[in-house]
Amino acid sequence: MIPMVDLHTQYQSLKAGIDAGIQSVLDNTHFILGENVRALEAEIADYLGAAHAVSCASGTDALHLALLAAGIGPGDEVITTPFTFIATAEAIAYVGATAVFVDIDPATFNLDVNLAEAAITDKTRAILPVHLFGQACDIPALSALCEKHGLLLIEDCAQSFGGKHGDRFTGTFGAAGCYSFFPSKNLGAFGDGGLVTTNDDALADRLRMYRNHGSRKQYVHEEIGYNSRLDELQAVILRQKLPHIDEFNAGRRRVAHRYSRNLADLPVQTPAESADAYHVYHQYTLLLDDRAAVQEALREQDIASAVYYPIPLHKQEAIIKHSKVAQALPVAEQTAARCLSLPVYPELSDDNVDRITEVIRRVLA
Ligand SMILES: *Cc1c(COP(=O)(O)O)cnc(C)c1O
Repeated sequence: MIPMVDLHTQYQSLKAGIDAGIQSVLDNTHFILGENVRALEAEIADYLGAAHAVSCASGTDALHLALLAAGIGPGDEVITTPFTFIATAEAIAYVGATAVFVDIDPATFNLDVNLAEAAITDKTRAILPVHLFGQACDIPALSALCEKHGLLLIEDCAQSFGGKHGDRFTGTFGAAGCYSFFPSKNLGAFGDGGLVTTNDDALADRLRMYRNHGSRKQYVHEEIGYNSRLDELQAVILRQKLPHIDEFNAGRRRVAHRYSRNLADLPVQTPAESADAYHVYHQYTLLLDDRAAVQEALREQDIASAVYYPIPLHKQEAIIKHSKVAQALPVAEQTAARCLSLPVYPELSDDNVDRITEVIRRVLA
């Protein structure tokens, strides 16, 4: 069996440190907002080169709290991509704002910057791009667009921990960068977790207030906030994994590049790497016509594959009433119909990559 992601092997390789870390939390019984959360926030801020890193309970909450702390609310429009996980648009709905969908670039599947400007109205307050599948979107162009129109830039980095544009990490370009530590993400906890990066002191202060019941001082509550804290057990696990993130991402890139070489002569679109992006392959996603046949052949060999994402967000029942479509979205629709993601994780061996591509070759050649 080759799974989409192998969390067991990664745990085995770091077991001694993780187990000792968990035991230390159990021994001191300080479970919420303790030394590991503080240390993890400092270590991640340092790694990413951000002034502040504020942890919270999930990537979804990171997006929600970032929009809330940035003051985005009812009546506001937020431009985003329809080809992403639903949480990106859910967070916009949570604050009462409207998601405005713009089509994606056919090569990278990221928000098409050339189409974003036409979607700006006098209600637009922010642009929320996703660094999809681990590849930075054209973030300098989006920054320039936000600057020109006085908009906030909030980055969904749930899939791009360690990914870069040029020599800067994703999540350090906009007002806020929103990360997820869901177990299967590039930096994954053993449960839910999230984090927001920002260089804005006031925004960081509001994020800390909102994640802890709207409180800056114990039992003094200025605003309605949330219970959205990362717990110490997750923080101690993430601290064991963080020093290995570059090596994990390099392993993902090895797998991806081997797939692309092996599949180069077949009728599939392999992932395009933008010139300035350091792609960290949260997913390795092909475009092809015979998706069902390839999935079936892989399944017969006990090899997992997955469709991320089969329905673009402008077609999701839950999102339709909280969103607007600025223009036709043909690329997102065609991509959703033709995309297929293959197993990718640092521990996937070259032999298994070759086995997978041989199965695909038998179907398509
Ligand atoms: C995983 C993910 C999220 C949500 O993160 P959770 O930690 O699962 O809440 C948001 N956006 C994108 C693009 C994601 O992949």
